[in-house]
Amino acid sequence: MHHDDYSPATTVAEFRTRLAQVRHRIAAAALRVGRDPRDVRLLPVSKTVPEDRIRLAVEAGCTQLGENKVQEAKRKSENLADLDVQWSVVGHLQTNKARDVAAFASEFQALDRLRAAAALDRRLQAAGRSLDVHVQVNTSGEDSKYGLPPEEVPAFLAELPAFTALRVRGFMTLATLTTDAGDVRACFRLLRSIRDRAREENPDLIGPGELSMGMSGDYEIAVEEGADCVRVGQAIFGSRSTPDSHYWPGG
Ligand SMILES: *Cc1c(COP(=O)(O)O)cnc(C)c1O
Repeated sequence: MHHDDYSPATTVAEFRTRLAQVRHRIAAAALRVGRDPRDVRLLPVSKTVPEDRIRLAVEAGCTQLGENKVQEAKRKSENLADLDVQWSVVGHLQTNKARDVAAFASEFQALDRLRAAAALDRRLQAAGRSLDVHVQVNTSGEDSKYGLPPEEVPAFLAELPAFTALRVRGFMTLATLTTDAGDVRACFRLLRSIRDRAREENPDLIGPGELSMGMSGDYEIAVEEGADCVRVGQAIFGSRSTPDSHYWPGG
């Protein structure tokens, strides 16, 4: 939403401070709406951040890291295999990368096509693993964004039990990129209403029904609107030079 300049954290102490600041804001937002701050998971997103700085962040307390691109995530998970970190892929998956995700990721937050579900399931079955997934929904109505249109969510959910290696945890969305807090909030509310409706129709299809929503510029609004997981990159690691359009077309 707002695009602050975030200076890079370059020491363990700086990472500790950043993490504490973000957690403090999450807690304040949760308390404003009567939520328990401990119910909100902070997923630090380390895309574009070099491995030496990721090591500092892990030393400062990060135990999970989100990455948008599979190749980058795979490389980092291999080069940082000595660290106790769980990797979450939060970006669009090409089916020819499903095997990689099945090998190193503990979570995939951007499921929006049955072809990807089938490819992941096949690779996971072969590896004897399972994977937590979030169904990505396009709540902004911008057709350049990834994610299912809201009206297609029920039929999509109904197909997922066939893929027994996938454990559906809930939903993920990216809010519209705007400075209008009302528009951002509307995206988050829409995701929550989609979750609530799915829960009424068939709670077994959505697992715990988590909402993954909110990034550096809008995670406090997301927490106010019920986010169970916020995906925060720049506010922890520092501003990225890579434009968002590299990660979601039209962004
Ligand atoms: C990069 C990214 C984020 C984090 O964005 P920041 O602006 O760095 O907080 C969240 N979600 C997804 C899908 C991303 O690709």
